[in-house]
Amino acid sequence: MSNYKINTKCVQSGYTPGNGEPRQVPIIQSTTFKYDTSEDMGKLFDLEATGYFYTRLQNPTNDYVAAKIADMEGGTAAMLTSSGQAANFYALFNICNCGDHIVSSSTIYGGTFNLISVTMAKMGITATFVSPDCTEEELTAAFQPNTKAVFGETIANPALTVLDIEKFAKIAHAHGVPLIVDNTFATPINCRPFEWGADIVTHSTTKYMDGHGAAVGGAIVDSGKFDWMANADKFPGLCTPDESYHGITYAEKFGKEGAFITKCTAQLMRDLGSVQSPQHAFILNLGLESLHLRMQRHCENGQAVAEFLHNHPKIDYVKYCGLPSDKYYNAAQKYLPKGSCGVVSFGLKGGRKAAEVFMKNLKLAAIETHVADARTCCLNPATSTHRQMTDEQLKEAGVPAELIRISCGIEDKEDLIFDISQALDCIQ
Ligand SMILES: *Cc1c(COP(=O)(O)O)cnc(C)c1O
Repeated sequence: MSNYKINTKCVQSGYTPGNGEPRQVPIIQSTTFKYDTSEDMGKLFDLEATGYFYTRLQNPTNDYVAAKIADMEGGTAAMLTSSGQAANFYALFNICNCGDHIVSSSTIYGGTFNLISVTMAKMGITATFVSPDCTEEELTAAFQPNTKAVFGETIANPALTVLDIEKFAKIAHAHGVPLIVDNTFATPINCRPFEWGADIVTHSTTKYMDGHGAAVGGAIVDSGKFDWMANADKFPGLCTPDESYHGITYAEKFGKEGAFITKCTAQLMRDLGSVQSPQHAFILNLGLESLHLRMQRHCENGQAVAEFLHNHPKIDYVKYCGLPSDKYYNAAQKYLPKGSCGVVSFGLKGGRKAAEVFMKNLKLAAIETHVADARTCCLNPATSTHRQMTDEQLKEAGVPAELIRISCGIEDKEDLIFDISQALDCIQ
């Protein structure tokens, strides 16, 4: 499918039925698979043959859907995980050991910030956070001899900063390490980070990819371009024999195209088990089939709401990279020419108090710890998703206390603007 346009890939990639086979991706609701001889199964365990033996490691439904996402991103291999959190943890832990270090953009999803700064620190993996707006010199200064990866989000949730992927990739590569980009908000419809030099892409498929608020899930995609063997001293997990897997050296046996995902599946999924259920993969695929249509409407609604808020007297500021006044407008023109996403952040002039009144009076937009769903939802991050952060950390992460995040769904934009307008009118 790789020569088709992205809209066609959304609908048709990953699964091609044979004669008389089901048109829709079949749900293989089976934990295990049957073999005629132990020898046949042994080959699978030795990674000598491809096939299925246990759904924690691989399942056909999941593989069809992962293959579609790989094709949409322009990658060579992909895997599904039980959540976006698992995807980011696996992507980092696949190449970082105790004693290693990560350079990360400071404006990332709260859950990922916690994962890297608290939980992975407990595992002996430390991190340096840099502003996504840092200069090449500042970014270079964040590296240590033990740095193994650079991490950032195409469009940060909820700060809505736009990552200069080319710059981050260039500096990462100058230090012999890959750039991992969480592409959840942009989706491959609006940005394909591999085209700008990123090496690994992750997703919370819970968001736009599913798009209906129905199934938590994640995905990891490999560009197949990073040369692990050229940096073998940095990546012993990929470039030296894995004694827990019959002495296989992943980068030798599976090459640049397959080593990362094969190791991540055969080792991390085997041992940690954050597997996506085939049912969820099926639901995710239904979402993917209309992703290109929905993203268009999400962006149209986001743009209309951002413009309305921008001109409203009770609004202090609006963050949306589709507004010419936005700090990231130029970056968005480069990386997101078809549109960014449906998420708009704004600050009310009346601060925390006004935010409370506004939230209480919304009728169509629901208060939810969620974004990127067909239904419009709204959140005040300081009092919910980011509540573990200090005021200083909140500012640094780009989510000050008065900030409201609205995730525009795919309803009619006139109804959305009417709802926002009447809620703003309730503020004294
Ligand atoms: C939601 C989100 C995650 C975490 O994903 P879950 O599926 O909720 O575990 C990671 N990154 C970004 C950018 C997100 O928006």
